[in-house]
Amino acid sequence: MACPPKIMLVTGASRGIGAATARLAAAEGCDVAVNYRRDKAAADAVAADVERAGRRAVAVAADVAVEDDVERLFATVDARLGRLTHLVCNAGITGPLSRVDALPAKAAREVLDTNVLGAFLCARAAIARMSTRRGGAGGAMVFISSAMATLGGAGEYVMYAASKGAIESLSLGLARELAQEGVRCNVVEPGPIATGIHPPGRLEHITKAVPMGRPGTMEDVARAVLFLLSDQSSFTTGAVLRVAGGR
Ligand code: NAD
Repeated sequence: MACPPKIMLVTGASRGIGAATARLAAAEGCDVAVNYRRDKAAADAVAADVERAGRRAVAVAADVAVEDDVERLFATVDARLGRLTHLVCNAGITGPLSRVDALPAKAAREVLDTNVLGAFLCARAAIARMSTRRGGAGGAMVFISSAMATLGGAGEYVMYAASKGAIESLSLGLARELAQEGVRCNVVEPGPIATGIHPPGRLEHITKAVPMGRPGTMEDVARAVLFLLSDQSSFTTGAVLRVAGGR
Protein backbone atom coordinates (compact mmCIF):
# COMPACT_ATOMS: atom_id res chain seq x y z
CA MET A 1 0.00 0.00 0.00
CA ALA A 2 1.39 3.40 -0.95
CA CYS A 3 1.98 5.78 1.97
CA PRO A 4 0.07 9.04 1.73
CA PRO A 5 2.38 11.96 0.92
CA LYS A 6 3.63 14.02 3.84
CA ILE A 7 3.63 17.69 2.96
CA MET A 8 5.22 19.88 5.60
CA LEU A 9 5.59 23.62 6.02
CA VAL A 10 8.33 24.92 8.31
CA THR A 11 8.20 28.64 9.07
CA GLY A 12 11.44 30.57 9.50
CA ALA A 13 13.33 27.72 7.88
CA SER A 14 16.19 29.51 6.12
CA ARG A 15 18.50 28.92 9.11
CA GLY A 16 18.75 27.57 12.65
CA ILE A 17 16.25 25.11 14.11
CA GLY A 18 13.84 25.58 11.19
CA ALA A 19 16.48 24.71 8.59
CA ALA A 20 17.61 21.65 10.57
CA THR A 21 13.98 20.52 10.88
CA ALA A 22 13.38 20.95 7.14
CA ARG A 23 16.48 18.88 6.32
CA LEU A 24 15.61 16.11 8.77
CA ALA A 25 12.00 16.05 7.54
CA ALA A 26 13.25 15.48 3.99
CA ALA A 27 15.52 12.67 5.16
CA GLU A 28 12.45 11.09 6.78
CA GLY A 29 10.40 11.27 3.58
CA CYS A 30 8.53 14.59 3.66
CA ASP A 31 8.11 17.15 0.92
CA VAL A 32 8.96 20.49 2.51
CA ALA A 33 7.93 24.11 2.06
CA VAL A 34 10.72 26.35 3.37
CA ASN A 35 9.31 29.67 4.54
CA TYR A 36 11.69 32.58 4.98
CA ARG A 37 11.37 36.29 5.64
CA ARG A 38 14.42 37.89 3.97
CA ASP A 39 17.30 35.54 3.14
CA LYS A 40 16.29 33.99 -0.19
CA ALA A 41 19.74 32.51 -0.88
CA ALA A 42 19.77 30.67 2.45
CA ALA A 43 16.20 29.40 1.94
CA ASP A 44 17.04 28.23 -1.59
CA ALA A 45 20.03 26.32 -0.18
CA VAL A 46 17.78 24.52 2.34
CA ALA A 47 15.26 23.73 -0.44
CA ALA A 48 18.12 22.36 -2.58
CA ASP A 49 19.14 20.06 0.30
CA VAL A 50 15.55 18.80 0.53
CA GLU A 51 15.60 18.01 -3.19
CA ARG A 52 19.00 16.30 -2.87
CA ALA A 53 17.32 14.01 -0.32
CA GLY A 54 14.88 13.02 -3.08
CA ARG A 55 11.90 15.06 -1.92
CA ARG A 56 10.04 18.03 -3.40
CA ALA A 57 10.68 21.51 -2.00
CA VAL A 58 9.57 25.08 -2.42
CA ALA A 59 11.04 28.19 -0.78
CA VAL A 60 8.42 30.88 -0.10
CA ALA A 61 9.02 34.41 1.21
CA ALA A 62 6.41 35.54 3.73
CA ASP A 63 6.28 37.46 6.98
CA VAL A 64 4.23 35.23 9.29
CA ALA A 65 2.95 38.29 11.16
CA VAL A 66 1.16 39.59 8.03
CA GLU A 67 -2.19 37.95 7.23
CA ASP A 68 -1.98 38.41 3.44
CA ASP A 69 1.54 36.99 3.40
CA VAL A 70 0.41 33.89 5.30
CA GLU A 71 -2.56 33.32 3.00
CA ARG A 72 -0.26 33.63 -0.03
CA LEU A 73 2.28 31.30 1.61
CA PHE A 74 -0.31 28.56 2.11
CA ALA A 75 -1.79 29.06 -1.37
CA THR A 76 1.70 28.64 -2.84
CA VAL A 77 2.17 25.40 -0.89
CA ASP A 78 -1.23 24.17 -2.17
CA ALA A 79 -0.24 24.91 -5.75
CA ARG A 80 3.36 23.69 -5.64
CA LEU A 81 3.29 20.71 -3.26
CA GLY A 82 -0.38 19.87 -2.59
CA ARG A 83 -2.55 19.73 0.52
CA LEU A 84 -0.57 20.36 3.70
CA THR A 85 -0.35 17.57 6.29
CA HIS A 86 2.27 18.90 8.75
CA LEU A 87 3.09 22.35 10.12
CA VAL A 88 6.03 23.54 12.21
CA CYS A 89 5.49 27.03 13.64
CA ASN A 90 9.14 27.86 14.20
CA ALA A 91 9.58 31.49 13.10
CA GLY A 92 10.32 33.60 16.14
CA ILE A 93 12.13 36.63 17.46
CA THR A 94 13.31 37.54 20.95
CA GLY A 95 13.13 41.32 20.71
CA PRO A 96 15.90 43.36 22.35
CA LEU A 97 17.55 42.27 25.61
CA SER A 98 15.83 44.53 28.14
CA ARG A 99 14.08 44.80 31.48
CA VAL A 100 10.32 45.27 31.07
CA ASP A 101 10.42 48.86 32.36
CA ALA A 102 12.79 49.84 29.53
CA LEU A 103 11.12 47.92 26.68
CA PRO A 104 9.35 50.12 24.08
CA ALA A 105 5.78 49.04 23.26
CA LYS A 106 6.76 48.82 19.59
CA ALA A 107 9.36 46.14 20.37
CA ALA A 108 6.91 44.21 22.54
CA ARG A 109 4.31 44.37 19.77
CA GLU A 110 6.78 43.01 17.20
CA VAL A 111 7.53 40.02 19.43
CA LEU A 112 3.83 39.30 19.98
CA ASP A 113 2.97 39.81 16.29
CA THR A 114 5.64 37.41 15.04
CA ASN A 115 5.52 34.78 17.75
CA VAL A 116 1.83 34.70 18.70
CA LEU A 117 -0.20 36.22 15.86
CA GLY A 118 2.12 34.49 13.36
CA ALA A 119 1.50 31.09 14.97
CA PHE A 120 -2.26 31.77 15.03
CA LEU A 121 -2.39 32.81 11.36
CA CYS A 122 -0.38 29.75 10.27
CA ALA A 123 -2.38 27.36 12.46
CA ARG A 124 -5.66 28.76 11.15
CA ALA A 125 -4.57 28.30 7.54
CA ALA A 126 -3.30 24.80 8.34
CA ILE A 127 -6.61 23.76 9.93
CA ALA A 128 -8.40 24.59 6.66
CA ARG A 129 -6.12 22.07 4.90
CA MET A 130 -5.74 19.34 7.55
CA SER A 131 -8.99 19.05 9.53
CA THR A 132 -11.23 16.16 8.50
CA ARG A 133 -14.12 18.55 9.20
CA ARG A 134 -12.79 20.69 6.36
CA GLY A 135 -12.25 17.77 3.96
CA GLY A 136 -8.61 17.19 4.92
CA ALA A 137 -6.89 13.93 5.74
CA GLY A 138 -5.73 15.00 9.21
CA GLY A 139 -2.22 15.97 10.21
CA ALA A 140 -0.05 17.36 12.96
CA MET A 141 1.35 20.68 14.11
CA VAL A 142 4.30 21.50 16.34
CA PHE A 143 4.83 24.90 17.92
CA ILE A 144 8.35 25.89 18.90
CA SER A 145 8.12 27.49 22.31
CA SER A 146 11.03 28.01 24.71
CA ALA A 147 12.03 26.93 28.21
CA MET A 148 11.66 30.67 28.90
CA ALA A 149 7.88 30.07 28.93
CA THR A 150 8.31 28.50 32.37
CA LEU A 151 11.42 30.42 33.51
CA GLY A 152 10.09 33.94 32.85
CA GLY A 153 13.10 35.56 31.20
CA ALA A 154 13.56 38.10 34.05
CA GLY A 155 15.92 40.96 33.23
CA GLU A 156 16.27 39.87 29.61
CA TYR A 157 13.31 38.64 27.64
CA VAL A 158 10.08 38.75 29.65
CA MET A 159 7.84 39.61 26.69
CA TYR A 160 9.50 36.86 24.66
CA ALA A 161 8.79 34.43 27.52
CA ALA A 162 5.19 35.69 27.64
CA SER A 163 4.81 35.15 23.90
CA LYS A 164 6.01 31.57 24.28
CA GLY A 165 3.55 31.00 27.14
CA ALA A 166 0.81 32.20 24.79
CA ILE A 167 1.93 29.76 22.08
CA GLU A 168 1.67 26.92 24.59
CA SER A 169 -1.91 27.89 25.44
CA LEU A 170 -2.70 28.15 21.74
CA SER A 171 -1.35 24.66 21.12
CA LEU A 172 -3.28 23.14 24.05
CA GLY A 173 -6.53 24.77 22.97
CA LEU A 174 -6.05 23.69 19.38
CA ALA A 175 -5.15 20.16 20.47
CA ARG A 176 -8.52 19.88 22.21
CA GLU A 177 -10.44 21.72 19.48
CA LEU A 178 -9.04 19.43 16.77
CA ALA A 179 -8.76 16.17 18.68
CA GLN A 180 -11.66 14.57 16.80
CA GLU A 181 -10.67 16.10 13.46
CA GLY A 182 -7.49 14.08 12.90
CA VAL A 183 -5.09 16.87 13.85
CA ARG A 184 -2.61 16.62 16.75
CA CYS A 185 -0.95 19.74 18.20
CA ASN A 186 2.12 19.71 20.41
CA VAL A 187 4.86 21.98 21.71
CA VAL A 188 8.62 21.65 21.79
CA GLU A 189 10.25 23.72 24.53
CA PRO A 190 13.96 24.15 23.76
CA GLY A 191 16.53 25.38 26.25
CA PRO A 192 19.67 27.14 25.01
CA ILE A 193 20.39 25.97 21.46
CA ALA A 194 23.46 26.96 19.43
CA THR A 195 21.96 29.14 16.68
CA GLY A 196 22.36 32.69 15.42
CA ILE A 197 19.47 33.99 17.55
CA HIS A 198 21.75 34.84 20.52
CA PRO A 199 23.67 38.08 20.98
CA PRO A 200 27.47 37.48 21.30
CA GLY A 201 28.44 35.75 24.57
CA ARG A 202 24.86 35.03 25.72
CA LEU A 203 24.76 31.35 24.79
CA GLU A 204 27.89 30.64 26.87
CA HIS A 205 26.41 32.57 29.79
CA ILE A 206 23.02 30.83 29.83
CA THR A 207 24.55 27.40 29.22
CA LYS A 208 26.07 27.60 32.73
CA ALA A 209 22.57 26.89 34.09
CA VAL A 210 22.09 23.76 31.94
CA PRO A 211 22.57 20.60 34.06
CA MET A 212 23.98 18.66 31.08
CA GLY A 213 26.65 21.37 30.75
CA ARG A 214 26.25 22.02 27.05
CA PRO A 215 23.95 23.94 24.74
CA GLY A 216 21.60 21.89 22.58
CA THR A 217 22.13 21.44 18.87
CA MET A 218 19.60 22.30 16.19
CA GLU A 219 19.34 18.58 15.49
CA ASP A 220 18.49 17.85 19.15
CA VAL A 221 15.40 20.01 18.63
CA ALA A 222 14.63 18.83 15.09
CA ARG A 223 14.51 15.19 16.23
CA ALA A 224 11.97 16.05 18.94
CA VAL A 225 9.85 17.96 16.41
CA LEU A 226 9.90 15.08 13.93
CA PHE A 227 8.90 12.65 16.68
CA LEU A 228 5.85 14.76 17.58
CA LEU A 229 4.88 15.05 13.92
CA SER A 230 5.27 11.34 13.25
CA ASP A 231 2.90 8.44 13.83
CA GLN A 232 5.28 7.36 16.63
CA SER A 233 3.41 9.90 18.80
CA SER A 234 -0.08 8.98 17.58
CA PHE A 235 -1.79 9.33 21.02
CA THR A 236 0.14 12.48 22.00
CA THR A 237 -1.68 15.78 21.63
CA GLY A 238 -1.68 18.88 23.82
CA ALA A 239 1.75 17.88 25.14
CA VAL A 240 4.89 19.89 25.85
CA LEU A 241 8.23 18.21 25.21
CA ARG A 242 11.12 20.01 26.91
CA VAL A 243 14.45 19.74 25.09
CA ALA A 244 16.68 21.63 27.49
CA GLY A 245 19.39 19.38 28.92
CA GLY A 246 17.66 19.22 32.30
CA ARG A 247 17.05 22.99 32.62
P1 NAD B 1 17.05 31.89 14.20
O1 NAD B 1 17.08 33.35 14.43
O2 NAD B 1 18.21 31.21 13.57
O3 NAD B 1 15.74 31.45 13.40
C1 NAD B 1 14.54 32.14 13.47
C2 NAD B 1 13.99 32.19 12.07
O4 NAD B 1 12.70 32.80 12.07
C3 NAD B 1 14.88 33.02 11.15
O5 NAD B 1 15.09 32.32 9.96
C4 NAD B 1 14.04 34.28 10.92
O6 NAD B 1 14.28 34.89 9.66
C5 NAD B 1 12.65 33.71 11.00
N1 NAD B 1 11.65 34.73 11.25
C6 NAD B 1 11.65 35.68 12.21
N2 NAD B 1 10.58 36.47 12.09
C7 NAD B 1 9.88 36.02 11.02
C8 NAD B 1 8.69 36.42 10.41
N3 NAD B 1 7.98 37.47 10.86
N4 NAD B 1 8.25 35.73 9.32
C9 NAD B 1 8.95 34.67 8.86
N5 NAD B 1 10.10 34.25 9.41
C10 NAD B 1 10.56 34.91 10.48
O7 NAD B 1 16.80 31.26 15.63
P2 NAD B 1 16.48 29.76 16.12
O8 NAD B 1 17.23 29.63 17.39
O9 NAD B 1 16.65 28.76 15.05
O10 NAD B 1 14.94 29.94 16.51
C11 NAD B 1 13.91 29.14 16.00
C12 NAD B 1 12.80 29.07 17.02
O11 NAD B 1 13.29 28.43 18.19
C13 NAD B 1 12.28 30.44 17.47
O12 NAD B 1 10.88 30.40 17.61
C14 NAD B 1 12.94 30.62 18.83
O13 NAD B 1 12.19 31.47 19.67
C15 NAD B 1 12.96 29.19 19.33
N6 NAD B 1 13.93 28.92 20.39
C16 NAD B 1 15.26 29.06 20.18
C17 NAD B 1 16.14 28.81 21.23
C18 NAD B 1 17.62 28.94 21.08
O14 NAD B 1 18.33 28.95 22.09
N7 NAD B 1 18.15 29.07 19.87
C19 NAD B 1 15.65 28.40 22.48
C20 NAD B 1 14.28 28.27 22.65
C21 NAD B 1 13.42 28.53 21.60
